Amino acid sequence: MKQVIVIGAGISGLAFAHRLEELSKAQNIPIRLTILEKSSRIGGAIATESREGFLIEKGPDSFLSEKPWALELARDLFVGPEIIGTHEQNRRVFVARSGELLGIPQGFHLIAPKSILSFLKSPLFSWQGKARVLMEMGLPKSKVGEDESIASFIERRFGKEALQCVGQPMIAGVYSGDPEQLSMQNTMPRFKELEAKYGSVILGLKKTAKSKAVPEKTSGVRYSLFLSFKKGMETLTRALADSLPANTFYMATEIEKLYRDVVSGKWTITARSGQVLTADLICFALPAKAVSPLIHPFEPALSEKLNQISYESVATLYFAYPRQAISHSLNGFGFVVPAAEKKSLMACTFVDKKFPGRAPSEHALFRVFVGGAFGKRYFEMSDQELTRTAQKELSEFLGIKGQPIFSTLHRHTEALPQYKVGHASLVAAIETKVQRFPGLYLTGASYRGTGISDCVHDARVQADMAFEWLSRL
Ligand SMILES: Cc1cc2nc3c(=O)[nH]c(=O)nc-3n(C[C@H](O)[C@H](O)[C@H](O)COP(=O)(O)OP(=O)(O)OC[C@H]3O[C@@H](n4cnc5c(N)ncnc54)[C@H](O)[C@@H]3O)c2cc1C
Repeated sequence: MKQVIVIGAGISGLAFAHRLEELSKAQNIPIRLTILEKSSRIGGAIATESREGFLIEKGPDSFLSEKPWALELARDLFVGPEIIGTHEQNRRVFVARSGELLGIPQGFHLIAPKSILSFLKSPLFSWQGKARVLMEMGLPKSKVGEDESIASFIERRFGKEALQCVGQPMIAGVYSGDPEQLSMQNTMPRFKELEAKYGSVILGLKKTAKSKAVPEKTSGVRYSLFLSFKKGMETLTRALADSLPANTFYMATEIEKLYRDVVSGKWTITARSGQVLTADLICFALPAKAVSPLIHPFEPALSEKLNQISYESVATLYFAYPRQAISHSLNGFGFVVPAAEKKSLMACTFVDKKFPGRAPSEHALFRVFVGGAFGKRYFEMSDQELTRTAQKELSEFLGIKGQPIFSTLHRHTEALPQYKVGHASLVAAIETKVQRFPGLYLTGASYRGTGISDCVHDARVQADMAFEWLSRL
């Protein structure tokens, strides 16, 4: 029987293992699958908790409906009926400006307006800023195929004000990164495609709007197209784990050494506990920086490339309040805070306004993000100081009186891979080097997409290639 070891029991490792099992059963080629996980729980970044009638997502709170792979997987695992969409009536996002929350114009699509009229009425931009954004429709397009930073793209097409007011905080809300560094091609390829195809992002958005299911009355990126599960995101990772044989998992097992026998081609893994395992095929479903030291002894050049992918840290904090303590109308999904505001908060979700069933009636639950590229000094604060700072700012933004019913803090240290300019070439170089080691596969958020749906897709693609290779052994 072919032996397969998957390292990492986050969504990527689980989806990889699930697909291999599926193929093994369908083609009647038996495999013995083992998943090694460093921590004592399954799910990686996906972690849901219930507390006093509130539902808390320590990591991701949703997945994209636009990218179909997580949705399709959920249906295959029979948790389709558990899927929920966002509250339609609250689909808007605010941006902080000098302590006030201003609505992003309706129809504003992450960095560009689709509806010119509501954009013109918005107090978010100056008249000069508005004129510069609308000039985008007449600008020539750039050379095809060249990567550039998100900041360069937004500034080139829409001007500096669009970058500072909306672009930067929206990007920080999604990637927690610096738009001067992040690759346009690897984070928002659709806008580059619209520029290339229609000569203008605004005109492209207008032309493609009619064929899209997303209503025009939405703004922001995280919200309009997002799905979750009634009992939280862990529904998906639990269903995946339940679909695998019970003896698949080795928990609290961290790898110390990896060795490949050049004659037999077999892989040997030594865990920190001293346990030794061998396999025909090995798949790393970990952040690239965790794979790098394991690869170093036998392929330093690959190890060095893996180490070039950098990460940002964020903390998610939850605050629960009785509704009557809050003076803001909370008529949206939340707000983002530009770095220029010099606050600890990067973004805030009005959790119970975004998804149903997240808080008892007459209560409100807020999730705030702190850290990222511009908030390192806040991330470094003690838990107590960070909670106090975030709570004070939240209270000021939303007019909250009194203390929360409870608050929670979860740190995600170096958890968010940053796809910097040139990321595609770096990943291509990594792939070329990996191909020199038959039976070695890499998947996970570090390489070809950071969202849950991207991770599911990539894991399944890698599993298809891995199975094809295994079946030829
Ligand atoms: C705070 C936060 C919010 C997010 N929000 C969203 C969102 O709303 N929507 C969305 O689509 N995406 C979101 N993301 C991104 C998404 O959650 C992740 O990209 C995805 O979950 C990564 O899955 P993964 O399996 O690749 O990695 P992980 O989930 O990091 O899993 C890797 C696993 O490997 C284990 N491991 C590490 N080292 C070793 C070792 N040496 N040996 C054995 N095991 C090891 C870890 O313990 C972990 O369980 C968010 C991420 C974060 C951090």
